[in-house]
Amino acid sequence: MPAQPASRVPDEAHQPPDEPLWCKRCNTDRNLLVNSIQSHYPPAPNMVDVAYECSDCRYSYTQIASVQKVAAVLNRPGVTQGVLQFGGQYLHCGEPMKTKSCELRRIQAPLVLKPKAQLRMYEVLINTRILGCHCGFRMEIPD
Ligand SMILES: [Zn+2]
Ligand SMILES: [Zn+2]
Repeated sequence: MPAQPASRVPDEAHQPPDEPLWCKRCNTDRNLLVNSIQSHYPPAPNMVDVAYECSDCRYSYTQIASVQKVAAVLNRPGVTQGVLQFGGQYLHCGEPMKTKSCELRRIQAPLVLKPKAQLRMYEVLINTRILGCHCGFRMEIPD
């Protein structure tokens, strides 16, 4: 029976430490607000660079954390976290929002070039994407 190849080390061995988001000054994670999430480099599965601050003592932190650790703070009831942008993805409830549909929007605007000139309607067509979260939150962004 051949020996296991050296590359078959358990995945955990390659993982950076996954500390929970925490305010060391207040010794709590209750007041944390996530400011940004960036892909970690070198790419590590499920790991992100997260920047957050404590709304109580205003101290800000940056660290590497797993998406689950970040989601634990984002998903906390009672704290309103906005939509987070993350590497071209939009996150809500700590999860990437999914494209529900694409729309071609017709935007009409009246435009008068000169006084007393005839009012003309101008039309602009833009492609938009409707993103949805499993919680029901939706938003529309230009594509
Ligand atoms: Zn604090
Ligand atoms: Zn949501």
